[in-house]
Amino acid sequence: MTDVASPRFRFAPSPTGFFHVGGARTALYNWALAKRTGGTFVLRIEDTDEARNKPEWTQGIIDALAWIGVRSDDPTFEGPYFQSSYADEHTAAAHRLFAEGRAYYCDLTTEQIQERSKQNSKPGYDGYSRDRGLEPGPGRVLRFRVPEGTTVVDDLVRGRVEFAHETIEDFVLLRGNGSPMFLLANVVDDVSMRVSHVVRAEEHLPNTPKQQMLWQALGHGAPVWAHVPVLVNEQRKKLSKRRDKVALEQFRDEGYLSEAMVNYLMTLGWAPHGDEEIVPWSRIEAEFSLEDVNHSPAFFDPKKLAAFNGEYIRAMSLEQFVEACAPFLTRDVPWPAERFDTTVFRAIAPLAQTRMVTLNEIVALVDFFFLDVPIIDESAWSKTFGGAESVEMLDDAIAAFASISDWTAEILKTSLESAGAARGLRLGKAQAPVRVAVTGRTVGPPLFESLVLLGRDKTMARLRAASERAR
Ligand code: GLU
Repeated sequence: MTDVASPRFRFAPSPTGFFHVGGARTALYNWALAKRTGGTFVLRIEDTDEARNKPEWTQGIIDALAWIGVRSDDPTFEGPYFQSSYADEHTAAAHRLFAEGRAYYCDLTTEQIQERSKQNSKPGYDGYSRDRGLEPGPGRVLRFRVPEGTTVVDDLVRGRVEFAHETIEDFVLLRGNGSPMFLLANVVDDVSMRVSHVVRAEEHLPNTPKQQMLWQALGHGAPVWAHVPVLVNEQRKKLSKRRDKVALEQFRDEGYLSEAMVNYLMTLGWAPHGDEEIVPWSRIEAEFSLEDVNHSPAFFDPKKLAAFNGEYIRAMSLEQFVEACAPFLTRDVPWPAERFDTTVFRAIAPLAQTRMVTLNEIVALVDFFFLDVPIIDESAWSKTFGGAESVEMLDDAIAAFASISDWTAEILKTSLESAGAARGLRLGKAQAPVRVAVTGRTVGPPLFESLVLLGRDKTMARLRAASERAR
């Protein structure tokens, strides 16, 4: 793989929907290799399928790639390339192949081809027009004349894969209206962008022998191929946009950190050297190699991704954490903007930081500080105040807290501990009604520190209101 002096990698997404995590992994593989080899990474938007492409998907892909740190870095062209701008080159290449006798026109309709294939031993197009010498004309498609023989694809992930030409029909290069087909456009662009390595999804492996023939017919050696295995869900089914959560944008918007996402995606089918999976990008870049990519499908495990994310969140400095939370504290929050208190937030932040999987969870962890009345989780409420004892415990807590002189976490804790002990309750049980009364929920940041930050008056008012409501 290192035999190419200045390798050029590319990522060539079609903008037909949200950006799939599988695409993100392929992009990252290419990016890591470009960085590792001192090569170039080219981004090409394959936007020739007008019916399925939308400009907003294109922008979505570019933004999502930027989020994971991937961008065109070709010093000669800022990019990205748009395939639709090169239609003339695609057709010119096809016309050249026709002029050289490597391609021919055919006027059969789809129905006629089907009719003929019923009589043939092999399905598909049978080469009917190969020697009919047809000139171009409306409704005539241009087909590649597949030579006899075998194509061997040397794939860095899959190994050596042989394709007998008998199994490959003379495929279409230009449609009846003269527009180029994907296979042709893809190769012509790779040739003119001087791509040396095609690292892409496994689903394109069946296209590869045809594309390798095209590379040769256009007068070039084939690139280095690598087809990376698909991502599957827990049922070992291919990840699908309909069934699974796969949009990179959605993970970003929920508060996954790009570093965690990048690290996790890179470990799907590949592992850094040693025992650790959570490693900085510098190690990935230094160690990643296609030869080490596993060729069986990789399980995209949302739970493991969440665990990675939690670790990355905990590893942040307080400053980084506060900054990362900022967008989530202004968007769709239940409190009035002017009630947000940065000092309170900074005080609670380190305690929240250890309890989070995604950044968007911050809102539910701190909302009770910035609301006059906490949002009550009704199911938590009925579970907690189902029996008389918890209401009595709450009243005992009110009495105990009312007699405290210093409103500190330590004293609040001791006082609730002894109020609970008088009822034979451990601290965990004794504090449950207090937590629900004050925060509205059963889980949240450490209780006594929260009560101190909230202050005596608000705490007592909430405890009394809850006692009223619970009886
Ligand atoms: N545009 C193709 C896709 O999104 C990629 C083709 C390639 O990488 O060669 O699947």
